Amino acid sequence: MNNLNNYLFTKYSKRDKSITFANNFCENSPLNNGITMNYKNIFFRFSGLLLAFFLLQLTYTVQAQKTNFTLVLDAGHGGHDPGAVGAIAREKDLNLNVILRLGALVEKNFKDVKVVYTRKTDKYLTLQQRADVVNSNHADLFISVHTNAAKSSAAYGAETFTLGLAKSKANLDVAMRENSVILLEDDYKAKYKGFDPNSVDSYIMFEFMQDKYIDKSIDLASNIQKQFVNYARRSDRGVRQAGFWVLHRSACPSVLIELGFISNKAEERYMASENGQKELATSIYNAFVRFKHDHDKKSGVAAFSTDNKEILRSNDHAETDEPEQKPVADNKPVTDKSKPAENDAQQVIDNAFANNTTSITSKNAQLNHDVPVFRVQILASGRKLNADAADFKGQKNTNYFVENGLYKYTVGSETDYNKISNIHKELRSRFPDCFIIAFVGDKKMSAKDALKLIK
Ligand SMILES: [Zn+2]
Repeated sequence: MNNLNNYLFTKYSKRDKSITFANNFCENSPLNNGITMNYKNIFFRFSGLLLAFFLLQLTYTVQAQKTNFTLVLDAGHGGHDPGAVGAIAREKDLNLNVILRLGALVEKNFKDVKVVYTRKTDKYLTLQQRADVVNSNHADLFISVHTNAAKSSAAYGAETFTLGLAKSKANLDVAMRENSVILLEDDYKAKYKGFDPNSVDSYIMFEFMQDKYIDKSIDLASNIQKQFVNYARRSDRGVRQAGFWVLHRSACPSVLIELGFISNKAEERYMASENGQKELATSIYNAFVRFKHDHDKKSGVAAFSTDNKEILRSNDHAETDEPEQKPVADNKPVTDKSKPAENDAQQVIDNAFANNTTSITSKNAQLNHDVPVFRVQILASGRKLNADAADFKGQKNTNYFVENGLYKYTVGSETDYNKISNIHKELRSRFPDCFIIAFVGDKKMSAKDALKLIK
């Protein structure tokens, strides 16, 4: 340490011409005057501290470089490509607003994350240009945000896609719609190597494709959906796979989010509202916090990101980053208490996406969480049904919950198994396949398992 002190002092002295005795540590040297000794003493006292500080800075710089993480944020569409168009909003604007809010949250809370935007303004980029931004920045994560649209105004809810072969026509339809922006380019056939976004055959390539990032992408997608439900109180349409060109070309974990349906009046209003955009962005941010935490843990450098916490809803009795904003007048946000009007006749039971078990919150939430409540499930539907839909065969007072992307409709709510059994018998004439299910608190279970709890 003395040698080091000596060395540091020499360096210091070379800069400071007033001190000329740096190398002279002989106390009785005639050249040692009082003033120099004072400097020397002071320096001796603090040089150890300075060295420690210097080493700490060096360690921090090395660590910070190591943890440097690049997040590419992509607001779908832009410029002359508006994306899906609703009654009061355009997809390109909704996507951008949510992306900018999300980016601001990450920039504010993660000093070791570089946020790169494919666009920060209303400008057009091809899908290939977006993927180029991901790859030229050696991104660690790519998040693309879009807004859904359907022919039926009844469809609503949020879904998150990872790359893969679409297992349903609905998933393929979303990919086809989002990929169709390719057709806006003059020479798309040459640029996209014969990939035709409108031809089903073009999508077969995704079946044989290996995606080494798939596990991480699915993890993130699941957490985003979980946050959409728990934080933003959205309806969960689940994690899905489909062949998105922009995900296919990006060499890192990547997800494409469909925030909600612009074709559904209430959901469009929610997404166009400041509160809605804030909730959606915060949900994605919260999922990112988890992703980054896992990433750091795997890289063995978790120490510098432990302060980054998820933002919780204020009604969860936890701190929020910013105060909840009051809804703007005439711009009523949609929460679980104000679902689309067509379902007013139905009591709404929302799902919460938790460990594949369905959580429910109902107006007549069970007071005693240990007592099973029995219901008869009469039908399941891929979309939300109007109260007067023919599917109900005149049955009134139905409830529903959402599980695995399906709306499941039930009748009755009884703690007495005999009572629900009678309702079941009566319903079987119109709904031959109906069956009894049970909820204990938030957890859905089979009637058989629930009966075991009673005995
Ligand atoms: Zn889109």
